[in-house]
Amino acid sequence: MTKPTTPLYEISDARFSGLIHSNARLETLWTGARWCEGPVYSAAGKYLLWSDIPNDRLMRWDGTDGSVSVFEQPCLHQNGHTTDLEGRLVSCEHGGRAVSRIEHDGTRRVLADRFDGKRLNSPNDVVVKSDGSIWFSDPTYGIDSDYEGHAAPSDIGASQVYRCAPDGTVSVVVSDLVQPNGLAFSPDETFLYVADTGRTHVPDCAPKIRRYPVNPDGASLGLGEDFVFSDCGLFDGFRFDASGNIWSSAGDGVHCFSPEGNLLGKILIPEVVSNLCFFGPNRNRLAICATTSVYSIYVNAKGC
Ligand code: MG
Repeated sequence: MTKPTTPLYEISDARFSGLIHSNARLETLWTGARWCEGPVYSAAGKYLLWSDIPNDRLMRWDGTDGSVSVFEQPCLHQNGHTTDLEGRLVSCEHGGRAVSRIEHDGTRRVLADRFDGKRLNSPNDVVVKSDGSIWFSDPTYGIDSDYEGHAAPSDIGASQVYRCAPDGTVSVVVSDLVQPNGLAFSPDETFLYVADTGRTHVPDCAPKIRRYPVNPDGASLGLGEDFVFSDCGLFDGFRFDASGNIWSSAGDGVHCFSPEGNLLGKILIPEVVSNLCFFGPNRNRLAICATTSVYSIYVNAKGC
């Protein structure tokens, strides 16, 4: 008798079959975190970094031999990451209550830690636009307790999304979400998409991703609209593929949506997923941060 196996995929739309490999398997790259977040890939270095926020450490998977080691600890309770136009690591720090960048010589430079003279809450996720500006969410998870940062009241008194201009000026771009979290631009940068995990604080806040049209100035946003809602858990971090499909974290795995917002299918993951990124030389592999583990799977899509 063969052992029943848990299905890996849930296909809601025939298009999803063209975005996955039916014979791909889910691999566990590493396990041992308290809460994994913020994956980012260095194509030049062939390595993947991610946060283990409660353990205040940054982990590194080496693509040349598959080994995993501690990259930095303590690390100011880093959460989300991205790379900028020069390939430098940009980090959201709960502990530092800042967005910082590692320069090519290894020094840490704070890019934003205040708005209107008041300290940020705890930057969560970050994306760099093609003009070099840095857009980041600032919910309260890193100041709610000492588990993922340092407990403190919010100086600003609101959870918003900010834009840090290349000259360092910080402005508010989204202020209508309860707890803005993951964020990404559409491949053509005509919209900014932002997840709201506000249900953690407001029970009737529907878990969703909203989108906002980028104004012609490229620096501000128009009126937002709800784009997709989650049918299982919260949307935290998400990424676009080059065709404009969204691959999002959720309670039961990775949810894939078409550019129009139709659920195409799911990759079912055995732990709650917080974030993901495309990686590898062809950017056709997903690194999936899920509670204690980092999983990976090849897909028939490329990250943009
Ligand atoms: Mg997040």
